[in-house]
Amino acid sequence: MTHVLSAVAWPYANGPRHIGHVAGFGVPSDVFSRYMRMAGHDVLMVSGTDEHGTPILVQAEQEGVGPQELADRYNRVIAEDLHALGLSYDLFTRTTTRNHHAVVQELFRTVHRNGYMVAKKGMGAISPSTGRTLPDRYVEGTCPICGFDGARGDQCDNCGNQLDAIELKDPRSRINGETPVFVETEHFYLDLPALADALGSWLQGRAETGSWRPNVLKFSQNLLEDLKPRAMTRDIDWGIPVPLPGWEDNPAKRLYVWFDAVVGYLSASVEWARRSGDEDAWRAWWTDPSARSCYFMGKDNITFHSQIWPAELLAYDGRGAKGGEPGPYGDLQLPSEVVASEFLTMEGKQFSSSRGVVIYVRDVLARYQPDALRYFISAAGPENNDADFTWQEFATRTNSELVAGWGNLVNRTASLIARNVGSIPGRGELTDADRALLQTTSAGFGTVGGLIEAHRQRAGIAEAMRVVGEVNKYLTEQEPWKIKESDPERMRSVLHVTAQAVSDCRTLLSPFLPHSAQAVHEALGGTGTVSPLPQLREVTDLDDASRSYPVLTGDYRRGETLPQWAPHPVVPGTPVAPPKPVFTKLDVAAVVEEETARLREGL
Ligand SMILES: [Zn+2]
Repeated sequence: MTHVLSAVAWPYANGPRHIGHVAGFGVPSDVFSRYMRMAGHDVLMVSGTDEHGTPILVQAEQEGVGPQELADRYNRVIAEDLHALGLSYDLFTRTTTRNHHAVVQELFRTVHRNGYMVAKKGMGAISPSTGRTLPDRYVEGTCPICGFDGARGDQCDNCGNQLDAIELKDPRSRINGETPVFVETEHFYLDLPALADALGSWLQGRAETGSWRPNVLKFSQNLLEDLKPRAMTRDIDWGIPVPLPGWEDNPAKRLYVWFDAVVGYLSASVEWARRSGDEDAWRAWWTDPSARSCYFMGKDNITFHSQIWPAELLAYDGRGAKGGEPGPYGDLQLPSEVVASEFLTMEGKQFSSSRGVVIYVRDVLARYQPDALRYFISAAGPENNDADFTWQEFATRTNSELVAGWGNLVNRTASLIARNVGSIPGRGELTDADRALLQTTSAGFGTVGGLIEAHRQRAGIAEAMRVVGEVNKYLTEQEPWKIKESDPERMRSVLHVTAQAVSDCRTLLSPFLPHSAQAVHEALGGTGTVSPLPQLREVTDLDDASRSYPVLTGDYRRGETLPQWAPHPVVPGTPVAPPKPVFTKLDVAAVVEEETARLREGL
């Protein structure tokens, strides 16, 4: 048993999330966490909404509300969507809690005390027409590194390098197009050069495990070649105050997202522990070197997780060139794995809310089963290459793989048992064909589990579906319906073996398809929860009784009730009723037509 931290990227609360987001961070982290729990590990899966920064202010202005009200609105929308998708967070919280502020400020104080947070004057952009600060990501121009026109002042989305706005060629404001002017302003910079050696040895150690995707590792190692101090504060009034004398009360200086949202993995773990009644419980995932931590995100967030966050942890621990001592949280462990997915496009185009190329999680789940979306993402998502979502492929896969493959097997098995026996039958002597089938389904636990643990979920679900195909083939070949009169004992044996094989497939598929796993369990007469779903609960802020907010949480880790990653023997005599279909068949042409029309209206 290992303590496993599933650290899932924090969705930004300036609007509802589209399916590209949940394909990158949501479903993959949930499949992994569900499997690891079943395999007997103690998993802590945390995340929340990222609620500070300029885009929240800009969106709030557009919607005519304050930033907290806007964040409240979309925090709730996002939590509800992730709940409906069945993502099994131990805690999904937010960055505007008092707890998060306190944890971030503690990290800052210790990093500063250890000497890695250096105040220096630099140049910041302001809008000449309004005199207001223009945050880096609202400055656009040509990337000085790759020449991409459309790089932002904080990062170039083309080459992935971090930038300062003043480095851009032909800078312009994304708000009104004017050319910004740069004025002197004082900020705290994280001394990345002083952490470069420590970062390098950490990455070298990670490379030796062979567990990182090669592109993520290479990208992260390349980042080391050009490390400069990075500003961790901003001229903005919406965010976490800088916890130092002379700065604390300055309403115009706040911590930047690089020292805010990424700290959320730690603060959410602390909040989870405080809510669990054992306020030190989080330490098992953070200060024990034998714990494993896996961070899930889209590829545009690799820098935060393989450079910025590890550097902050090293600085907190005092493990850089300037030395130092860990603060009260102790020697915090760096990420074991940074699991970045590629991008999902839609009908061949990049998602864009403003251009109407978008499908929100909420809209898909209002019209289709959550497991149909989870299936598409697991089987055809952007794991190692960019992937394209089309309605044609979504509906076709739902019908041919989920409905005709898996759902039909469950339906045939439960119908045959209900009609011919009425309960799970016992079995006689096994034939070679019976033994071969049960060996195939048993072997699936090793192969599918190994693939999920190695973050190869596309191969994992393909292997589980191959096993489903073997069971379908067995049932077709054995033709139990033909021997009802001539050899009822053999018919009962075949149905017993099929029921066992279906039960095994259900377990193999349950990390991917938790909603239907429960339905399949019940179709074979099972009772109790085999596939726990998250709960959406309203809680009070632990440090401010006047605030309440929704969190996602759940009771997933009780070993005695959670089915393990192994075959569970079916119990002869368990009543089986005529089944209802587990998956809904779609009219492919109608789905494509309706959804295409909706996309056009969205323009
Ligand atoms: Zn670039």
